[in-house]
Amino acid sequence: MFDTLSDRLTSALQSLSRKGRLSDADIDATAREIRIALLEADVALPVVKAFIAKIKDRAKGAEVSQALNPAQQVVKIVNEELVGILGGETRRLNLAKNPPSVIMLAGLQGAGKTTLAGKLAMWLKKQGHAPMLVACDLQRPNAVTQLQVVGERAGVTTFAPEPGNGVGDPVDVARRAIEEAKHAQHDIVVVDTAGRLGVDEELMKQAADIREAVQPDEVLFVVDAMIGQDAVTTAEAFRDGVGFTGVVLTKLDGDARGGAALSVREVTGQPILFASNGEKLEDFDTFHPDRMASRILG
Ligand code: GDP
Repeated sequence: MFDTLSDRLTSALQSLSRKGRLSDADIDATAREIRIALLEADVALPVVKAFIAKIKDRAKGAEVSQALNPAQQVVKIVNEELVGILGGETRRLNLAKNPPSVIMLAGLQGAGKTTLAGKLAMWLKKQGHAPMLVACDLQRPNAVTQLQVVGERAGVTTFAPEPGNGVGDPVDVARRAIEEAKHAQHDIVVVDTAGRLGVDEELMKQAADIREAVQPDEVLFVVDAMIGQDAVTTAEAFRDGVGFTGVVLTKLDGDARGGAALSVREVTGQPILFASNGEKLEDFDTFHPDRMASRILG
């Protein structure tokens, strides 16, 4: 994952290690290499600019340290700033004081929402919760069945509108699902919503209506990491149209560059909570900014 970025950052930083003292020119040269590495990784330009400015500022102003040589100090700064743009602390899921907690998923079609619903359900179950999935994607043929299939694989109940009643109203389905969850003692409800190929006003309104009706504890924006910094444009559209409280990055296993991971938090201001890295339900975990930064720096 992110091999080219890793290699380039490592080599940019290694070239400093041969130097005993660092001049401003050395720092500028390294900052330039880091800049190119980030741009090639498809990180959004404003994120790159702010990152480079901070690195230069901190590296030039760094106190002489007893413990670290100048090159190590720069590595430490780059690491800390990478952790920063990835979100700093690991952000845990917000759950309601009075169950059921409601987690709503939103994103483009194909982002991996339905798969994620199954992954999240299985993960929650392992943490001792009793989740229920709710099929509110009533647009795409098969979406309901697909959710039922992942629900079965995860070993959780799926609430779906009864077949034969026409398309149905997703807001109504979501409301009824929450009543059912209370009844059947599910402590977490995961609501899958419809996605379209492109950002679409009707879809946004539908998702916003569901949000309004069920007041979720979390709205997770699900985004395919392979789309690179296009993730940012999509995220902005969902932020403005629906609003969300956290991000889930999917398909990190297929993302060679890292642009989405490194841009989305800075641009939207919302933390990355989880990452998916494969098609299997187990290929999923909490997102840890510090671990991701260490992997990138090798
Ligand atoms: P939805 O339209 O947002 O509900 O997306 P789906 O859950 O149907 O996923 C779309 C495709 O992406 C499916 O073929 C999934 O198997 C695949 N997929 C989902 N998550 C991942 C992932 O983390 N890695 C990989 N490689 N494929 C994934």
